[in-house]
Order: sequence, then structure tokens, then C-alpha cells
Amino acid sequence: MIQLYQPLNFMGMVYREIKQAVIDIETMFSILARNPEIQDAPGAAPLTVSAGVIRFDNVAFAYEPDRPILKGISFEVPAGKTVAVVGPSGAGKSTISRLLYRFYDLSAGRITIDGQDIAQVTQASLRRQIGMVPQDTVLFNDTIRYNIRYGRWEASDAEVEEAARLAQIDGFIRLSPKGYETEVGERGLKLSGGEKQRVAIARTILKAPPILVLDEATSALDSHTEKEIQDALERVSQGRTTLVIAHRLSTIVSADEIIVLSQGEIVERGTHYALLAKNGLYASMWNRQREAEEARERLARAGDDE
Ligand code: ATP
Repeated sequence: MIQLYQPLNFMGMVYREIKQAVIDIETMFSILARNPEIQDAPGAAPLTVSAGVIRFDNVAFAYEPDRPILKGISFEVPAGKTVAVVGPSGAGKSTISRLLYRFYDLSAGRITIDGQDIAQVTQASLRRQIGMVPQDTVLFNDTIRYNIRYGRWEASDAEVEEAARLAQIDGFIRLSPKGYETEVGERGLKLSGGEKQRVAIARTILKAPPILVLDEATSALDSHTEKEIQDALERVSQGRTTLVIAHRLSTIVSADEIIVLSQGEIVERGTHYALLAKNGLYASMWNRQREAEEARERLARAGDDE
């Protein structure tokens, strides 16, 4: 029996190794597919993060040569602080997160992390130090445990479950008869946008990077789910340099600084209360969102009363 078991066990190990390699290759291709022109600079050194200060210095960028998207953006995310970028749809918010991850190179200016130009360090080291919670999380056709462990392959089962608890997805997982061994994806359990985002948060908790980029989902979430995600994000961003690309202003009230982007330019910046007092673009976006939320709540209440 043992004689039979050992080769099987070995094959299992090989299978897992291959599977992991395949997924890493998939990740690699998804990055390459975005832009094969991004190459490591000759002799690029690995990024070393000490404090974790992010700086955008006069950053200009265009996807197509004749259509500038960012027009000379400068801001800093101090070590361990949270800066949020807000603005109307199409203003260039998500582009900022893509540039920090170096999916594209700049037309002008520089992005640095602890003084190192991100175009001059290896892409692998840059992406290792940044935890990205994207708008759309890719889930693999595998167990929920596997999907969370993707954040750090060496993590133990207990660490995976602790990350899930912190990300507020543990309760949901335990509702399934197979718990962490539940298959997700096309043939298995389908997760909602909010649930997927919490899986991404759990992965990021396991990865424990010094820098975080949170690209909020655009879709409106119900206020209970939003609160759960918000709590999870607050925990994971504690003590980490965090850049939030925000679509719902209610989620960034406590950010250390809010940058208001419009047509690729910074038009206002400050804390939530300072920006409200200014009565400019931020204040009008805030008022509009409040009205929309109140109308939604009224509709929901009317539905409940019927
Ligand atoms: P939203 O709030 O709607 O998500 P955003 O502020 O995050 O918007 P971005 O996604 O940064 O906006 O896009 C800024 C502009 O760049 C948009 O006009 C968009 O159409 C354009 N854009 C985005 N991605 C590409 C691309 N891959 N190729 C060409 N244009 C693009």
C-alpha cells in the first residue's frame, strides 16, 4: 500500500507544482497581454521598500498618442497613509493604479517608491511589493481554499482561514457543506462581485505587502455588503501605504487625503471635510451620491412595506 501511495503522493505533488506554474504563467500572460512593450530596464535592480512612500511627479500618460488621459499629475502617499482618488467616470482614476503597477510606461514624469523610479526596478519585485485588490477579481476553477492561498502559496490552512475571517468571507464559506473545499468558478459555486472582492482582500492579507492599491468595484453594493467590505479593507490597510481608487465617496471619508481628478487633472485635494467646505466638485459629487443613496433607500423601504 505504502509502495503504491508514495508514487501517487509524488504525482500529486508534481501535479500541484505544474498547476501552480500554469497559473503563474497565466498571470504572466495576462500581464504580457496588456502590454508586451513593458520590459525591465537593462540592469534593473529589485525594488527595496523601507518606508513605502509613493510619489507621482508630473505624470502624463496617453493610451493613444493624440488623446492625453493624465496631464501632469503630482501627489504623494506618505508611508502608512491612505490617499483616495475620486472623480467623474473616465477622469483617469483606474489608469493611476495601472501605472503604479507598471502595466504601461509614462509619456512624461516619474513614479517613485521610496525614491526608486518604478521604471528602473524589476517588474517582478515591484509587483511583489504591491497588493492589488482589483475591480474584477479572477477566480480559478478550484476550491475556495486554493483561491485564497493564491495570495501566498506557503500559507498554512490556519493562515488561509484567518485571512478569510479578517476579510469577512469566512462565514459565507462555512455556509457551504464543503466549506473551504467548495469548488468555485464556472462549474462550482458562483460568487457575487462583493464576495469575489473579499476573496481578493483575503489573498492580499496573506500576501501582506507594504503597499496596497484598492480599485473599488463600480457596481453599487447593498449597504450591508459595502460595510463588510469597508471593514475588511480598513483592517488590511492598517499601517500600509494605501492608494484607493474610489467610486463611492462614502468609503473614503476617513482617507488622509482625497485627490479629485477631472479630465486627467487634479482639480481639488484635501480631507473630506475640507473638501465639503470648499463647495466645489467634490461637494457636488458628494451631495449627488447622498441623494441617490437616499432615493435607493426610500425605494427599498417602500418595497419592504408592500
Ligand atoms: P470609471 O470611474 O468609469 O472607472 P476612471 O476614472 O477610472 O473611470 P479610467 O479607467 O482611468 O477612468 O479611463 C480613463 C480614460 O481612458 C477613459 O476615457 C477610457 O475610455 C480610456 N481608456 C481606459 N483604458 C483604455 C485602453 N486600454 N485603451 C484606450 N483607452 C483607454
